[in-house]
Amino acid sequence: MHGKDKDTMQAADRTIRESVAQQAETLKALALKIHAQPELGFEEKKACAWQTALLKRWSFAVQTPWLGMDTAYRADWGDGNPVFCIMAEYDALPGIGHGCGHNLICAAALGAGFALSRALAAQKQTGRVVVMGTPAEESKGGKVKLVANGGMKGIDAVMMAHPSSRTVPDTGSTAIQRFLVGFKGQSAHAAASPELGRNALDAVMALFHGVNAWRQQLPETSRIHGIVLDGGVMPNIIPDAARCGFYLRSPDDSVLRTMTARFRKMVRGAALMTDTEASIETWLTPYKARWPNATMNRLYIEAVDQLGMKPRQPDHPGRGSSDFGDVSQKAPGAHVYFGISKKTVPCHSTQFAEAAGSRYGLDQMLKAAEAMARVGYRYLTEPETRRAARRDFLAAKRP
Ligand SMILES: [Zn+2]
Ligand SMILES: [Zn+2]
Repeated sequence: MHGKDKDTMQAADRTIRESVAQQAETLKALALKIHAQPELGFEEKKACAWQTALLKRWSFAVQTPWLGMDTAYRADWGDGNPVFCIMAEYDALPGIGHGCGHNLICAAALGAGFALSRALAAQKQTGRVVVMGTPAEESKGGKVKLVANGGMKGIDAVMMAHPSSRTVPDTGSTAIQRFLVGFKGQSAHAAASPELGRNALDAVMALFHGVNAWRQQLPETSRIHGIVLDGGVMPNIIPDAARCGFYLRSPDDSVLRTMTARFRKMVRGAALMTDTEASIETWLTPYKARWPNATMNRLYIEAVDQLGMKPRQPDHPGRGSSDFGDVSQKAPGAHVYFGISKKTVPCHSTQFAEAAGSRYGLDQMLKAAEAMARVGYRYLTEPETRRAARRDFLAAKRP
């Protein structure tokens, strides 16, 4: 980097720091308000209204509802190209509120968007900042709908930061397919006339046995897990109906397609073994695998390191699934993580919800906002960074 570029970068980093500091109390209040009033996917009316009001105040051009979703929004600042998008999530979990910490995701996204816009203005740089409100990440896939409705058109790169026990780069995530499987048989008295019955619960159990045997031949990175949803009423009635649900995952979309085809055969096999009729339907929204972007990961790690967040390298690639997978297959993207607890707490737990409302969690959210704004600034102002991110994206795309 040349001396002048370095001075400009330092000045931009200073503006970013001051802008986040200027809005710190507002951002923390937003995160706490959403934390205290959790709303489920596609019902995030308050969270959406609070965020869009702030973005309007910061002179972003806000569109909401967005792409047919009442609680989605798009907020633009600046014009022209390139376009850097920061995504916000704000849905809660049933029963445990913000046990995934999405209240911090949206506060960090707004802080990053604001700080990035101010740094671009101060340095008289061109480029557009988009803060995009993406509802219903938990199972219902707001981003899948958004991608399908053209929400990624014109977006050059995209980023979001998710709370975690650790500050780590994007580790990727698995593609997921979810199925509801039902079997129909014939009920009969289980003692007096069992020979007249056809047992639907036996079909469910045969399917579980088949899946368990199959694990030995699956790649290490594949995951499959099921639950019984309906297994009969009384032991003396041979169940004429039984139902189960399965999640199938792989970091490779094509492996998941192969797994899905095999799973369908197993369902048919279980029905054949028990002389029952099977039905299988897609449950919730399938998500694609998430492609990490090495360039954007490197920029994030540099930024969080400078901010004293002590980033780590992840122990293993991401095993969960996220609707950001579909987004990451449309443009260079990074779904990075920031630590909100000094000890390891499992995501989707009440302890994690506590951390998402803690003083430490809120302070880390502000740093994550600062880090994302720094990445965005470098992306928008350094052509070489844009080319490198694009190269990484195209390399992931190749089979
Ligand atoms: Zn979650
Ligand atoms: Zn989450």
